[in-house]
Parts: sequence; structure tokens; C-alpha cells
Amino acid sequence: MSTGLTIGTLSEQAIALDNAYVARNYNPLPVVAASAEGAWITDVEGRRYLDCLAAYSAVNFGHRHPALVAAAHDQLDRVTLVSRAFHSDRLGSFARDLADLAGKEMVLPMNTGAEAVESGIKVARKWGHDVKGITTPNIVVAAGNFHGRTISIISFSDDGTARTGFGPFTPGFRVVPFGDAAAAEAAIDDDTVAVLVEPIQGEAGVIIPPADYLPALRRITRERDVLLICDEIQSGLGRTGATFASDRVGVVPDLYLLGKALGGGVVPVSAVIGNRDILGVLHPGEHGSTFGGNPLSAAVGSAVVALLGTGEFQERALTLGERLSDSLLQLVGHGVTAVRSAGLWAGVDIDPSVGTGRDICQRLLARGILVKDTHGQTLRIAPPLVVTGDEVDFIAHELARALQ
Ligand SMILES: *Cc1c(COP(=O)(O)O)cnc(C)c1O
Repeated sequence: MSTGLTIGTLSEQAIALDNAYVARNYNPLPVVAASAEGAWITDVEGRRYLDCLAAYSAVNFGHRHPALVAAAHDQLDRVTLVSRAFHSDRLGSFARDLADLAGKEMVLPMNTGAEAVESGIKVARKWGHDVKGITTPNIVVAAGNFHGRTISIISFSDDGTARTGFGPFTPGFRVVPFGDAAAAEAAIDDDTVAVLVEPIQGEAGVIIPPADYLPALRRITRERDVLLICDEIQSGLGRTGATFASDRVGVVPDLYLLGKALGGGVVPVSAVIGNRDILGVLHPGEHGSTFGGNPLSAAVGSAVVALLGTGEFQERALTLGERLSDSLLQLVGHGVTAVRSAGLWAGVDIDPSVGTGRDICQRLLARGILVKDTHGQTLRIAPPLVVTGDEVDFIAHELARALQ
């Protein structure tokens, strides 16, 4: 109900509207974006902030990257949606280029990350059923995982907040410690169809497993004829200094799950990528999505794949990531207890004596930096990959002052 009376600043008005009408399933920082370009967001009062969240890595290429905006504009003037009931002149070339980027043969196009994970689980179960005759399949997953928020996905989460009150849950998952390949191996039995992991756990706080973990999972899954599924929704597409985080340890999974940056921050685009012997288990009518693979998403997704094809973003993430991690490591012992990083992706554990993660986010907000805490005491720093060296120095400099 509107009273017609507006009081407070533009920010306060917008926040009050959100609080009144938007379900409270998030707890946003008190900043109201009005526009954005590259690595910077401008709020409704004209204040500028360096975006160090990049929409959880969906904005890896920066806000409104000219090539992505141009691809979207161009496609808006042609055709945006026909559903998969018909072909479009965009989907096939997008799927070919994305499959090439991943070194695979086929793509199953979806929209959100959670849908890609759900789809990967369905493909693995169907593969187990059709190829191995498994009727009661199980999938081995890692503790501390984050794969999205649907019922089946929270069914194998160990985050109490994400689960409490949402049961009953989907059976068929076995949770083992992250980083422990022997535990994964011990959990595999004749009914196991897949091992599903994030190569680096993002929401958990940029947790990097031992270098031999993923290679060991690869060897074990091959020996046991079980699929290895890598959820690269946050870790993939340049963030870690490689196209895929699994590239860093020389591992090629059977299925890649992609999302977030695949839509360039413009539209939701996700995908399951694999070879024909696996994705070929899907036949007409067995799985679907009205918007999955629509021409607008495919046009933007193709432009994203083209950006990654140059290697420029992977290279930037690598070199600027070293610069960021060098300066962040100097803060250990000065309000920071630990720093973990991979490319332009850092988890910074805040010493509780200087405040909570949320406190430091508030202080950084006042200093013109947008960053988000995860699990209470950890900041996850992930600026768009278009950030400059000076801006990377600005992050560490302002964090040092916010910790004082
Ligand atoms: C964000 C994320 C998802 C879920 O993506 P949504 O688009 O939010 O559904 C899944 N897996 C990982 C690793 C993620 O970071």
C-alpha cells in the first residue's frame, strides 16, 4: 500500500521498498545500485564503488562489457525466444563453440546454475540406469559444498540454514570430506554413478583442496567407471586464471557444469557439457526447459565464449591475482588470520577481534568497495577480471585501513 508520501534519501526509499515487497531471503548490504560499468557500480546518490563480488562471478567480464551488450542488443532486434520446440539460428553454433572451449562434444543448455546441477544429476542417474543398469543410484559429494538452492541440491548440503524446515529431502547422496580422495573412494560402491565436486569451493570461502585431490578423483572415478562431475559454475570461465579451475591441476571431468559468467551478467545461461556417450542418454521429452538455449542467451553465450577464446581474461586473472594475493598476504597477522587465493579469487579470514566479516564489509562499503562475507568471518574477494592493477592495490589498501 502506498501512502504517496516519500521520506528519506533515494537509497533509503529503495531499501524500504525492497524490505516491504521483496521476500527476505537475502540480507543485502545497504547500497542501491543505479548503474554500472566495468568494475564499478554507481549508486542512486551518485557514489561509486569498486565491485569486488562481481555478482558471485557472474560478472567476470565486467558490467556491461561492450561485446556482450552489443550481442544482446543485436539479438533483441531479431528473435529472443522460440523454445526448443523449434530450432533457432543461434543455439547450434553456441553449443559447438562452448563444447570446443571445454574440449567436449555436446552441450545441454539450461538457465541457472542450480538447473545445471540438477540436470547434471539427472544425466548421471540416467547414464547409470541406461549404461550400467543401476536402479538405486547414489552420487558422492563433498562436505561444505554449495551447488545451489533447489530441494535436491540442499538435500546434500551440510548448511543447516539452507536445510532447516525444507525437508523431506531427496535420497541418493553420500557426503564425504572435501579434499579427501580416499574418503570419496571408500564411499563408492556398485550403485555409485558419479562423484560431484567443486574444484575449489567458492561459497565455503575459496577453499582450495590439495593439488593431488582432483587428479586422484579422476583416477578413481575412471577405475570404478563412475562419472566425475565438476561444478565450475563459480570457479570456471577465467576466474582462477584458467578457463576451468580443473585445468590448473590437469584434470578433465566427464561433465562440466557452467553458469554464472556464461551469461556475461546479461542473462541467465547455464550448461552441462560432456561427450556424446554421456549426454546422448537424453532423448526427446526426458528433460527440458522453456528458456534453456533461447536465442538471446545463445547470442550472449557465444560472445562470452569468444571473449574466453582470446585467453586475455585468464591471463589477467593470473597476473592480477598474484598482485592481489601478495598484498593480501601482508595483512596476515594484522586483522587477517588466513588468505587463500586462486587467480582473482581470494578468501580472506578476518580475525574476530577486529570484527565480523559483515562489519568489515560495512567499513569497506563506506570506503567505496563492495565485498560480501561468507560463513561469518570470511570475505570473498572476486572483482571483475577487467579490474586494473591500481584498482587491485586499492582493494588491499582499503582493506588494511578497514581492519584498523
Ligand atoms: C552459484 C552457484 C550455483 C548455483 O547457481 P544459481 O545460478 O544461483 O542457481 C551452483 N554451484 C556453484 C559452485 C555456485 O557457485
